[in-house]
Amino acid sequence: MNPFSYARPTETGTAIKTQAKESQAFFLAGGTNLIDLMKMGVVNPSTLIDINRLPLKGIEPHAGGLRLGALATNSEVADHPAVLKDYPLLSLAFNAGASPQLRNMATVGGNLMQRTRCSYFFDLTMPCNKREPGSGCGAIDGINRMHALFGASDKCIAVNPSDMSVALAALDATVRVRGGAGERAIPFHEFHRLPGDQPELDNTLRKGELITAVDLPPAVFTKNVYYLKVRDRTSYAFALVSVAAALDLDAAGRIRDVRLAMGGVAHKPWRLYKAEDFLKHKAATAENFRAAAAIAMEGAKAYRYNQFKLRLAPNTILEALTKAAGTNTPS
Ligand code: SF4
Repeated sequence: MNPFSYARPTETGTAIKTQAKESQAFFLAGGTNLIDLMKMGVVNPSTLIDINRLPLKGIEPHAGGLRLGALATNSEVADHPAVLKDYPLLSLAFNAGASPQLRNMATVGGNLMQRTRCSYFFDLTMPCNKREPGSGCGAIDGINRMHALFGASDKCIAVNPSDMSVALAALDATVRVRGGAGERAIPFHEFHRLPGDQPELDNTLRKGELITAVDLPPAVFTKNVYYLKVRDRTSYAFALVSVAAALDLDAAGRIRDVRLAMGGVAHKPWRLYKAEDFLKHKAATAENFRAAAAIAMEGAKAYRYNQFKLRLAPNTILEALTKAAGTNTPS
């Protein structure tokens, strides 16, 4: 590991100013991703700004919804009574991720910032446009079974690894950030980006900006929700495909509103807007769920080793919707 400076500010403004001064100054929260990347030499910070003393841990009601402080841990959010009661989809997604030990350390802000788990990104001997822009993409003609079906480019076909972010995309959350120019709110679907010609950029944060909170809108999807994660082993593994499904059903079982998002298939959490539009005001039947899954797969493009996802993804959508229409809520 390269030598680096370490700062531990107690004021948010100081942390932001310190980060803005150096191109390779990184914020450190739980460290569950960043420290691994440093050990492997994938990132080499000049300064680590430990933000754990900043007052960003609260989980509080806000504007009819809930505000999650950026430093709240994944476990704290997953087990919070207001999340279990009003946002059970988020709790399910958190508990599908990583391991209990990691969830006790990882934070909301850090989860948003975690990097792809493409193996070529971690392998310094291989080309990777995300790690080293212009070097090429080892995955496009390599072992790409974990890679994207949607929104990829000829520069990068990596996927976002976060389970939390799939649920937050479905719930239409907002990311609050603060920088030298003040505060701004980023709609969740605009926070992560597709690779395009700049796969080194995972998101739309500007230099010197710090995530301070994630806002959840007033709760609608409190009952008929499910987060289904398909992976190579049943714990401590990233998704091959995951689906966040939330239904608002009327007394007759018709769909008043629906949210669907997929993980493991794109460089950002992949919201299934066309499938949602198809399902609205229809009956919650297997036939309609199957048709929605087919709509969701329009435009999918597989690579040599991830062809299986073309069947796995619609089957996962169908299963998640079926479970959501039942009574599967976290206890
Ligand atoms: Fe790098 Fe993206 Fe290609 Fe993976 S898919 S090797 S992260 S450029």
